[in-house]
Amino acid sequence: MSDPTIGLLRDLIAIDSVNPSLVSGGAGEREIAEAVAREMHAIGMDVEVTEVATGRPNVVGTLEGRAPGRSLMFCGHLDTVSVAGMASPFDPIVRDGRLYGRGSADMKGGVAAMIGAARSLASSGGLESGRLIVAAVVDEEYASIGAEALVSRWHADAAVVTEPTDLVVAIGHKGFSWIEVTTKGRAAHGSRPQEGLDAILRMGRLLSRLERLDRKLQARPAHPVLGTPSLHGSLIAGGRELSTYPDCCVLQMERRTISGETADVALSEIEEILAALRLEDSDFQGDARLMFNRPPYETPAGHELPQLLESAVLSIGHPANRAGMTYWTDAAILGHGGIPSVIFGPGGEGYHGLEEYVRVNEVLACRDALTILARKFCV
Ligand SMILES: [Zn+2]
Repeated sequence: MSDPTIGLLRDLIAIDSVNPSLVSGGAGEREIAEAVAREMHAIGMDVEVTEVATGRPNVVGTLEGRAPGRSLMFCGHLDTVSVAGMASPFDPIVRDGRLYGRGSADMKGGVAAMIGAARSLASSGGLESGRLIVAAVVDEEYASIGAEALVSRWHADAAVVTEPTDLVVAIGHKGFSWIEVTTKGRAAHGSRPQEGLDAILRMGRLLSRLERLDRKLQARPAHPVLGTPSLHGSLIAGGRELSTYPDCCVLQMERRTISGETADVALSEIEEILAALRLEDSDFQGDARLMFNRPPYETPAGHELPQLLESAVLSIGHPANRAGMTYWTDAAILGHGGIPSVIFGPGGEGYHGLEEYVRVNEVLACRDALTILARKFCV
Protein backbone atom coordinates (compact mmCIF):
# COMPACT_ATOMS: atom_id res chain seq x y z
CA MET A 1 0.00 0.00 0.00
CA SER A 2 2.04 2.92 -1.25
CA ASP A 3 -0.48 5.74 -0.86
CA PRO A 4 0.85 8.08 1.88
CA THR A 5 -2.62 8.68 3.35
CA ILE A 6 -3.22 4.96 3.82
CA GLY A 7 0.35 4.53 5.06
CA LEU A 8 -0.30 7.18 7.69
CA LEU A 9 -3.62 5.57 8.62
CA ARG A 10 -1.90 2.23 9.19
CA ASP A 11 0.69 3.91 11.40
CA LEU A 12 -2.03 5.65 13.42
CA ILE A 13 -4.02 2.42 13.91
CA ALA A 14 -0.85 0.66 15.12
CA ILE A 15 -0.50 3.23 17.93
CA ASP A 16 -2.58 2.52 21.04
CA SER A 17 -4.54 5.69 21.87
CA VAL A 18 -7.27 4.37 24.15
CA ASN A 19 -8.84 7.24 26.08
CA PRO A 20 -7.48 7.05 29.66
CA SER A 21 -10.48 8.86 31.15
CA LEU A 22 -12.85 6.37 29.55
CA VAL A 23 -10.76 3.26 30.22
CA SER A 24 -8.52 3.24 33.26
CA GLY A 25 -4.93 2.50 32.20
CA GLY A 26 -5.65 3.67 28.63
CA ALA A 27 -2.52 4.71 26.73
CA GLY A 28 -3.72 8.23 25.97
CA GLU A 29 -2.86 10.40 22.98
CA ARG A 30 0.81 11.35 23.53
CA GLU A 31 2.37 8.85 21.13
CA ILE A 32 -0.20 9.30 18.37
CA ALA A 33 0.05 13.09 18.73
CA GLU A 34 3.81 12.84 18.17
CA ALA A 35 3.21 10.81 15.01
CA VAL A 36 0.68 13.36 13.75
CA ALA A 37 3.00 16.29 14.53
CA ARG A 38 5.86 14.55 12.68
CA GLU A 39 3.65 14.02 9.64
CA MET A 40 2.51 17.65 9.65
CA HIS A 41 6.11 18.87 9.89
CA ALA A 42 7.07 16.61 6.98
CA ILE A 43 4.27 18.14 4.90
CA GLY A 44 5.63 21.60 5.66
CA MET A 45 2.91 22.80 8.02
CA ASP A 46 3.45 25.06 11.02
CA VAL A 47 2.73 22.82 13.99
CA GLU A 48 1.58 23.69 17.49
CA VAL A 49 1.42 21.01 20.16
CA THR A 50 -0.52 21.98 23.27
CA GLU A 51 -0.83 19.77 26.30
CA VAL A 52 -4.51 19.83 27.31
CA ALA A 53 -4.02 17.45 30.25
CA THR A 54 -0.91 15.58 31.36
CA GLY A 55 0.27 13.41 28.47
CA ARG A 56 -2.68 14.45 26.34
CA PRO A 57 -1.69 16.97 23.64
CA ASN A 58 -3.76 18.57 20.89
CA VAL A 59 -1.86 18.99 17.62
CA VAL A 60 -2.74 21.85 15.28
CA GLY A 61 -1.07 22.26 11.91
CA THR A 62 -1.58 25.28 9.68
CA LEU A 63 -0.99 25.84 6.00
CA GLU A 64 -0.91 29.53 5.07
CA GLY A 65 -2.06 30.72 1.66
CA ARG A 66 -0.02 33.21 -0.33
CA ALA A 67 -2.68 35.91 0.11
CA PRO A 68 -5.16 36.73 2.84
CA GLY A 69 -8.46 34.89 2.73
CA ARG A 70 -10.89 32.82 4.72
CA SER A 71 -9.77 30.08 7.07
CA LEU A 72 -11.06 26.51 7.03
CA MET A 73 -10.54 24.03 9.85
CA PHE A 74 -10.49 20.24 9.65
CA CYS A 75 -10.90 18.58 13.03
CA GLY A 76 -10.63 14.99 14.20
CA HIS A 77 -10.04 13.17 17.48
CA LEU A 78 -7.02 11.02 18.28
CA ASP A 79 -8.48 8.90 21.08
CA THR A 80 -10.37 5.63 20.78
CA VAL A 81 -12.67 3.59 22.97
CA SER A 82 -11.54 0.39 24.69
CA VAL A 83 -9.98 -2.55 22.87
CA ALA A 84 -11.24 -5.17 25.33
CA GLY A 85 -12.28 -8.36 23.57
CA MET A 86 -10.68 -7.45 20.23
CA ALA A 87 -8.39 -10.03 18.62
CA SER A 88 -5.78 -7.63 17.13
CA PRO A 89 -6.82 -4.03 17.68
CA PHE A 90 -3.48 -2.45 16.70
CA ASP A 91 -2.78 -4.63 13.67
CA PRO A 92 -3.87 -2.68 10.58
CA ILE A 93 -4.94 -5.41 8.17
CA VAL A 94 -6.44 -4.68 4.73
CA ARG A 95 -8.99 -7.17 3.44
CA ASP A 96 -11.53 -6.65 0.63
CA GLY A 97 -10.98 -2.90 0.52
CA ARG A 98 -11.42 -2.57 4.27
CA LEU A 99 -8.76 -1.52 6.73
CA TYR A 100 -9.31 -3.17 10.13
CA GLY A 101 -8.27 -2.07 13.60
CA ARG A 102 -9.49 -0.10 16.62
CA GLY A 103 -10.12 3.48 15.62
CA SER A 104 -9.88 2.74 11.88
CA ALA A 105 -13.32 4.29 11.30
CA ASP A 106 -13.81 6.19 14.57
CA MET A 107 -11.83 8.06 13.56
CA LYS A 108 -8.23 7.59 12.48
CA GLY A 109 -9.51 7.22 8.90
CA GLY A 110 -10.88 10.76 9.08
CA VAL A 111 -7.69 12.03 10.72
CA ALA A 112 -5.53 10.46 7.98
CA ALA A 113 -7.85 11.91 5.30
CA MET A 114 -7.65 15.46 6.66
CA ILE A 115 -3.88 15.34 6.99
CA GLY A 116 -3.73 13.74 3.54
CA ALA A 117 -5.68 16.71 2.18
CA ALA A 118 -3.12 19.09 3.67
CA ARG A 119 -0.38 17.00 2.04
CA SER A 120 -2.15 17.15 -1.35
CA LEU A 121 -2.50 20.93 -1.08
CA ALA A 122 1.09 21.46 0.02
CA SER A 123 2.54 19.23 -2.68
CA SER A 124 0.53 20.87 -5.45
CA GLY A 125 1.67 24.43 -4.94
CA GLY A 126 0.00 25.21 -1.61
CA LEU A 127 -3.05 27.40 -1.00
CA GLU A 128 -3.43 30.46 -3.15
CA SER A 129 -5.15 32.33 -0.35
CA GLY A 130 -6.60 31.91 3.11
CA ARG A 131 -5.53 29.41 5.68
CA LEU A 132 -6.05 25.73 6.39
CA ILE A 133 -6.04 24.62 10.03
CA VAL A 134 -5.81 20.88 10.71
CA ALA A 135 -6.62 20.05 14.33
CA ALA A 136 -6.11 16.63 15.90
CA VAL A 137 -7.68 16.72 19.36
CA VAL A 138 -7.81 14.53 22.45
CA ASP A 139 -10.63 13.06 24.49
CA GLU A 140 -13.68 13.14 22.19
CA GLU A 141 -14.80 9.75 23.50
CA TYR A 142 -15.09 11.06 27.05
CA ALA A 143 -15.46 14.76 27.85
CA SER A 144 -14.04 16.53 24.75
CA ILE A 145 -11.44 18.49 26.70
CA GLY A 146 -9.46 18.63 23.44
CA ALA A 147 -12.15 20.36 21.39
CA GLU A 148 -12.92 22.72 24.29
CA ALA A 149 -9.26 23.73 24.46
CA LEU A 150 -9.11 24.07 20.67
CA VAL A 151 -11.99 26.59 20.41
CA SER A 152 -10.57 28.61 23.28
CA ARG A 153 -7.36 29.21 21.25
CA TRP A 154 -8.31 28.89 17.59
CA HIS A 155 -10.93 30.34 15.31
CA ALA A 156 -11.87 29.56 11.72
CA ASP A 157 -14.55 30.72 9.29
CA ALA A 158 -15.87 27.15 8.96
CA ALA A 159 -14.94 23.61 9.95
CA VAL A 160 -15.33 20.01 8.84
CA VAL A 161 -15.29 17.38 11.56
CA THR A 162 -14.16 14.20 9.84
CA GLU A 163 -16.10 11.67 11.93
CA PRO A 164 -17.41 8.69 9.93
CA THR A 165 -20.51 9.65 7.92
CA ASP A 166 -20.10 7.29 4.92
CA LEU A 167 -19.26 10.48 3.00
CA VAL A 168 -22.68 11.96 3.75
CA VAL A 169 -22.50 15.71 4.36
CA ALA A 170 -23.94 15.83 7.88
CA ILE A 171 -25.49 19.13 8.88
CA GLY A 172 -26.28 18.38 12.49
CA HIS A 173 -26.73 15.85 15.24
CA LYS A 174 -28.55 15.30 18.50
CA GLY A 175 -27.38 16.36 21.93
CA PHE A 176 -27.61 14.31 25.11
CA SER A 177 -28.13 14.58 28.86
CA TRP A 178 -27.04 12.11 31.51
CA ILE A 179 -29.26 11.95 34.56
CA GLU A 180 -28.85 10.07 37.82
CA VAL A 181 -31.99 9.09 39.71
CA THR A 182 -31.97 7.72 43.25
CA THR A 183 -34.89 6.07 45.02
CA LYS A 184 -34.78 5.60 48.77
CA GLY A 185 -36.22 2.77 50.85
CA ARG A 186 -35.64 1.41 54.34
CA ALA A 187 -33.34 -1.53 55.05
CA ALA A 188 -34.95 -4.29 57.11
CA HIS A 189 -34.80 -8.05 57.52
CA GLY A 190 -36.37 -9.70 54.49
CA SER A 191 -38.96 -11.43 56.66
CA ARG A 192 -40.34 -8.15 58.02
CA PRO A 193 -42.33 -6.36 55.31
CA GLN A 194 -43.93 -4.00 57.83
CA GLU A 195 -40.46 -2.57 58.62
CA GLY A 196 -38.85 -2.52 55.14
CA LEU A 197 -39.36 -0.17 52.23
CA ASP A 198 -38.18 -1.53 48.89
CA ALA A 199 -36.13 1.06 46.96
CA ILE A 200 -35.78 -1.26 43.94
CA LEU A 201 -39.51 -1.80 43.47
CA ARG A 202 -39.94 1.95 43.83
CA MET A 203 -37.42 2.44 41.05
CA GLY A 204 -39.58 0.03 39.06
CA ARG A 205 -42.44 2.52 39.21
CA LEU A 206 -40.17 5.17 37.76
CA LEU A 207 -38.86 2.79 35.08
CA SER A 208 -42.34 2.02 33.78
CA ARG A 209 -43.07 5.76 33.52
CA LEU A 210 -39.77 6.24 31.68
CA GLU A 211 -40.75 3.62 29.14
CA ARG A 212 -44.03 5.41 28.54
CA LEU A 213 -42.23 8.76 28.23
CA ASP A 214 -39.78 7.30 25.71
CA ARG A 215 -42.66 6.02 23.55
CA LYS A 216 -44.20 9.49 23.66
CA LEU A 217 -40.93 11.20 22.73
CA GLN A 218 -40.39 8.90 19.77
CA ALA A 219 -43.97 9.36 18.59
CA ARG A 220 -43.44 13.11 18.16
CA PRO A 221 -43.18 14.51 14.63
CA ALA A 222 -39.54 14.08 13.61
CA HIS A 223 -37.27 17.12 13.30
CA PRO A 224 -36.21 17.20 9.61
CA VAL A 225 -32.50 16.87 10.40
CA LEU A 226 -32.33 15.47 13.93
CA GLY A 227 -35.29 13.09 14.16
CA THR A 228 -37.02 12.60 17.52
CA PRO A 229 -35.72 12.66 21.09
CA SER A 230 -35.42 9.36 22.94
CA LEU A 231 -34.24 7.99 26.27
CA HIS A 232 -32.92 4.77 27.70
CA GLY A 233 -31.83 3.37 31.05
CA SER A 234 -28.06 2.86 31.01
CA LEU A 235 -26.87 1.57 34.41
CA ILE A 236 -28.70 0.48 37.52
CA ALA A 237 -27.56 -0.63 40.96
CA GLY A 238 -29.25 -1.27 44.29
CA GLY A 239 -29.66 -3.58 47.23
CA ARG A 240 -27.30 -5.09 49.78
CA GLU A 241 -27.97 -8.82 49.92
CA LEU A 242 -30.71 -11.31 49.14
CA SER A 243 -32.36 -11.32 52.55
CA THR A 244 -32.53 -7.57 53.09
CA TYR A 245 -34.94 -4.88 51.92
CA PRO A 246 -32.95 -2.53 49.66
CA ASP A 247 -32.64 0.97 51.07
CA CYS A 248 -31.29 2.56 47.91
CA CYS A 249 -31.44 2.15 44.14
CA VAL A 250 -29.53 4.30 41.65
CA LEU A 251 -30.31 4.58 37.95
CA GLN A 252 -28.12 6.39 35.45
CA MET A 253 -29.87 7.14 32.19
CA GLU A 254 -29.44 9.00 28.96
CA ARG A 255 -31.84 11.31 27.13
CA ARG A 256 -31.02 12.28 23.55
CA THR A 257 -32.08 15.82 22.71
CA ILE A 258 -32.89 17.80 19.56
CA SER A 259 -32.74 21.51 18.81
CA GLY A 260 -35.54 23.51 20.31
CA GLU A 261 -35.27 21.63 23.62
CA THR A 262 -33.76 23.37 26.62
CA ALA A 263 -30.64 22.13 28.41
CA ASP A 264 -32.72 21.08 31.42
CA VAL A 265 -35.52 19.32 29.50
CA ALA A 266 -34.40 15.84 30.59
CA LEU A 267 -34.10 16.74 34.27
CA SER A 268 -37.48 18.47 34.38
CA GLU A 269 -39.19 15.46 32.74
CA ILE A 270 -37.79 13.18 35.44
CA GLU A 271 -38.66 15.61 38.21
CA GLU A 272 -42.22 15.73 36.92
CA ILE A 273 -42.44 11.92 37.11
CA LEU A 274 -40.95 11.91 40.62
CA ALA A 275 -43.46 14.53 41.75
CA ALA A 276 -46.34 12.43 40.38
CA LEU A 277 -45.03 9.31 42.17
CA ARG A 278 -44.75 11.22 45.46
CA LEU A 279 -48.31 12.40 45.08
CA GLU A 280 -49.52 8.79 44.64
CA ASP A 281 -47.56 7.46 47.61
CA SER A 282 -46.35 9.63 50.47
CA ASP A 283 -43.70 6.98 51.29
CA PHE A 284 -42.10 7.42 47.88
CA GLN A 285 -38.70 9.12 48.06
CA GLY A 286 -36.62 9.85 45.00
CA ASP A 287 -34.51 12.57 43.51
CA ALA A 288 -32.67 13.28 40.29
CA ARG A 289 -29.62 15.23 39.25
CA LEU A 290 -28.08 16.23 35.93
CA MET A 291 -24.69 14.55 35.53
CA PHE A 292 -23.63 15.90 32.15
CA ASN A 293 -25.17 17.71 29.22
CA ARG A 294 -24.13 18.26 25.62
CA PRO A 295 -26.25 20.37 23.29
CA PRO A 296 -27.45 19.30 19.84
CA TYR A 297 -25.99 21.02 16.81
CA GLU A 298 -27.26 22.21 13.45
CA THR A 299 -25.17 23.88 10.75
CA PRO A 300 -26.59 27.40 10.36
CA ALA A 301 -29.35 27.32 7.72
CA GLY A 302 -28.21 28.75 4.41
CA HIS A 303 -24.49 28.49 5.21
CA GLU A 304 -22.53 27.79 2.04
CA LEU A 305 -20.29 25.08 3.55
CA PRO A 306 -22.62 22.07 2.96
CA GLN A 307 -23.22 23.17 -0.63
CA LEU A 308 -19.51 23.65 -1.35
CA LEU A 309 -18.68 20.26 0.15
CA GLU A 310 -21.44 18.55 -1.83
CA SER A 311 -20.12 19.94 -5.08
CA ALA A 312 -16.61 18.79 -4.09
CA VAL A 313 -17.98 15.28 -3.44
CA LEU A 314 -19.81 15.26 -6.78
CA SER A 315 -16.70 16.41 -8.62
CA ILE A 316 -14.79 13.28 -7.52
CA GLY A 317 -17.59 11.06 -8.83
CA HIS A 318 -19.43 10.29 -5.57
CA PRO A 319 -23.11 10.93 -4.94
CA ALA A 320 -23.70 13.92 -2.67
CA ASN A 321 -26.07 13.24 0.21
CA ARG A 322 -27.01 15.54 3.06
CA ALA A 323 -28.46 14.35 6.38
CA GLY A 324 -28.26 14.60 10.15
CA MET A 325 -26.25 12.13 12.22
CA THR A 326 -27.59 10.46 15.34
CA TYR A 327 -24.38 10.46 17.38
CA TRP A 328 -22.90 13.50 19.14
CA THR A 329 -19.61 14.96 17.91
CA ASP A 330 -17.13 17.76 18.61
CA ALA A 331 -18.93 19.71 15.82
CA ALA A 332 -21.28 20.90 18.56
CA ILE A 333 -18.35 22.41 20.49
CA LEU A 334 -16.88 24.03 17.38
CA GLY A 335 -20.30 25.21 16.20
CA HIS A 336 -21.37 26.65 19.54
CA GLY A 337 -17.87 28.14 19.79
CA GLY A 338 -18.62 30.24 16.72
CA ILE A 339 -17.25 28.03 13.90
CA PRO A 340 -20.03 26.86 11.53
CA SER A 341 -19.37 23.14 11.05
CA VAL A 342 -20.38 20.06 9.14
CA ILE A 343 -19.46 16.44 9.74
CA PHE A 344 -18.04 14.48 6.82
CA GLY A 345 -15.80 11.45 6.84
CA PRO A 346 -15.07 7.95 5.58
CA GLY A 347 -17.36 5.21 6.86
CA GLY A 348 -17.03 1.61 7.89
CA GLU A 349 -18.50 -0.63 10.55
CA GLY A 350 -17.93 -1.65 14.13
CA TYR A 351 -17.47 1.74 15.80
CA HIS A 352 -17.03 0.83 19.49
CA GLY A 353 -17.56 -2.82 18.45
CA LEU A 354 -15.27 -5.84 18.47
CA GLU A 355 -14.42 -5.71 14.77
CA GLU A 356 -13.93 -2.23 13.37
CA TYR A 357 -12.97 -1.28 9.84
CA VAL A 358 -12.95 1.73 7.52
CA ARG A 359 -13.51 1.57 3.77
CA VAL A 360 -10.17 2.45 2.13
CA ASN A 361 -11.73 4.03 -0.96
CA GLU A 362 -13.78 6.36 1.25
CA VAL A 363 -10.67 7.52 3.11
CA LEU A 364 -9.13 8.51 -0.22
CA ALA A 365 -12.37 10.07 -1.49
CA CYS A 366 -12.70 12.06 1.73
CA ARG A 367 -9.14 13.33 1.35
CA ASP A 368 -9.79 14.38 -2.25
CA ALA A 369 -13.10 16.10 -1.44
CA LEU A 370 -11.47 17.99 1.47
CA THR A 371 -8.62 19.09 -0.81
CA ILE A 372 -11.07 20.53 -3.33
CA LEU A 373 -13.16 22.12 -0.57
CA ALA A 374 -10.13 23.92 0.89
CA ARG A 375 -9.26 25.44 -2.49
CA LYS A 376 -12.85 26.61 -2.96
CA PHE A 377 -13.45 27.91 0.55
CA CYS A 378 -10.13 29.57 1.39
CA VAL A 379 -10.55 32.58 -0.89
ZN1 LIG B 1 -15.55 9.56 17.01
